[in-house]
Amino acid sequence: MAVHHTPYQRATPTTPTVIDWRRRGACGSVEPEVMFPGTKSEDIDAAKAVCTRCPVYRTCLRDIIRHEGGIHPDNRHGVVAALTGRERHAVWRQLKRRGLIT
Ligand code: SF4
Repeated sequence: MAVHHTPYQRATPTTPTVIDWRRRGACGSVEPEVMFPGTKSEDIDAAKAVCTRCPVYRTCLRDIIRHEGGIHPDNRHGVVAALTGRERHAVWRQLKRRGLIT
């Protein structure tokens, strides 16, 4: 089985971690293109399906929302934590509005 870098690893290659949870992501065992699906809904759904069987989903979600912060949706790439870039931005905005994230 080929091991690929996950979208998160690509986005944050220098993030220091003691135990690198990113290596356990389910997306590491699919072709990289799967997680960068373009605009077809069936391709986006296929990427999200990978995340639904991921053992580090919660950690990934928490981390990517904090890492991307308020960057513009157009500058968020790929499906991460079962969310498109626009969906991650919407989650970040809601958390920000509620004062749950800085
Ligand atoms: S939740 Fe999705 S993007 Fe995050 S590590 Fe798992 S499979 Fe990869």
